[in-house]
Amino acid sequence: MKDYDVVVIGAGPGGYVAAIRCAQLGMKTACVESWLNPEGKPALGGSCLNVGCIPSKALLDSSHHYEHLQHGLDDHGITTSSVKIDVKKMIARKDDIVKTLTGGIAGLFKKNKIDWLQGHGKLLGDGQVEVVPTGKGKAETVKAKNIIIATGSVPTAIPPAPVDDKYIVDSTGALSFDSVPKTLGVIGGGVIGLELGSVWRRLGSEVIVLEALDTFLQPVDQQMAKEAHRTLKKEGMDIRLGAMVTGTEVKGKKVKVTYTQGGKEQSLEVDKLVVSVGRAPNTQGLNAQEAGLKINARGFIEVDEHCHTNVPGVYAIGDVVRGPMLAHKASEEGVMVAERLAGQSTEVHFDNVPWVIYTWPELAWVGKTEEQLKAEGVEYGKGVFPFMASGRARAMGETTGMVKILACKKTDTILGIHIYGPNASELVSEAVIAMEFGASTEDIISTIHAHPTLSEAMHEAALAVDSRTIHI
Ligand code: FAD
Ligand code: AMP
Repeated sequence: MKDYDVVVIGAGPGGYVAAIRCAQLGMKTACVESWLNPEGKPALGGSCLNVGCIPSKALLDSSHHYEHLQHGLDDHGITTSSVKIDVKKMIARKDDIVKTLTGGIAGLFKKNKIDWLQGHGKLLGDGQVEVVPTGKGKAETVKAKNIIIATGSVPTAIPPAPVDDKYIVDSTGALSFDSVPKTLGVIGGGVIGLELGSVWRRLGSEVIVLEALDTFLQPVDQQMAKEAHRTLKKEGMDIRLGAMVTGTEVKGKKVKVTYTQGGKEQSLEVDKLVVSVGRAPNTQGLNAQEAGLKINARGFIEVDEHCHTNVPGVYAIGDVVRGPMLAHKASEEGVMVAERLAGQSTEVHFDNVPWVIYTWPELAWVGKTEEQLKAEGVEYGKGVFPFMASGRARAMGETTGMVKILACKKTDTILGIHIYGPNASELVSEAVIAMEFGASTEDIISTIHAHPTLSEAMHEAALAVDSRTIHI
């Protein structure tokens, strides 16, 4: 029986990063992964690289170019004629990016001498993991001093809208349509629903989003959410709030969707329907409970702040445990577990995990929302700076949105930074660094920001907390 210091189960951004860090720190490491790509070939990278972060951003970029070429350049004096989209080529480009990046992980495994055990991992207890190959071949059992579970998540299914992968699809299906649906229904107005809805709307679909909650983007700072709602509606996304889907029927080549809204039964017909109502932790076939692991009522493996499970020597990270289902959170947990196994005292600061929604403009934030601070009774100061007043944003023709900084009234410590605007996904890093260093708004104020940049809006928002803005 092969013996390892660490066996990682799952090679998404949690698992593959954990495996690389373990190997870098001198541990004999293997990673079990069962993913098969659409060609039936084994692939590393998990949901993030294969059907998540990367392919969705590839399509968001392609569709953004298409829309921008058609509608975003008039003011620049650039006119275009007959802009066309070749959907098959766009999807092939996305598939190519995925192939290159997943192949890159295989290369990193080789470089770091990590054994990729291709197959499905099953916990047998006592540090043993059975690996059942997805193709031909015999199951193999390996032994590990430590096991890191990084089995991720899968799209949540709902009984009223069973996925048939033809007319009713989940997020994976919506990344591979071979033509632009004339009408597209999206169940769930969360991060994934809005990103995928944006892709197809920009390419010409009439997109109708059905969201069960009455509040748009409830977990997001509501000043930002309202601004994003306004923009998305203006661009033509039909967002119906308080709309709970109760049934679907595929008839001919159409999907009839029934939903209740304001106590009334409603219906609509679409060409394709995307079910994007969240993701569920994945422990299928892992034998977790039988191996003694505690799993909570929502299916997450229970862990402490250092990702220890209740079983000594077994750790769990990423989407399969509590906390935001985000790739970077999974990776940081992976690094933490690897480094703690090597005797270091690494921590993950969960309060400083950034969030991004890649609509255009983008929405990004870190820390508390105004609603959270109010609920917690924290006294705070607030500074807002609109991109309309930013020279760089004006030069770019991207003036929608704002930066908002929330800081403790007494100490001036920054409690939350919210950005709705161009390149918010990049701008948020300054916010994360500031919060990680426990910065005050005065620290951002005394930091020189290059001119002209979008980041000056951050500087001005910090000034705004103390009513000292220069440009408004
Ligand atoms: P996963 O990436 O889900 O990987 C788990 C891996 O484990 C899979 O490869 C699976 O095959 C394997 N596995 C499971 N069970 C076993 C087993 N028993 N044996 C062997 N292998 C097993 N997050 C962001 O931060 N930014 C984004 O922009 C973003 N966009 C997204 C867009 C979409 C459309 C989707 C669906 C998700 C997006 N996410 C995004 C979320 C992100 O993909 C996840 O948070 C991230 O992939 C979680 O990483 P993980 O390592 O925990 O699990
Ligand atoms: P997220 O967790 O960000 O992917 O968002 C998923 C969204 O789907 C949430 O805003 C939920 O309120 C919404 N949702 C869940 N079930 C339904 C349903 N049956 N009909 C409409 N929206 C739903």
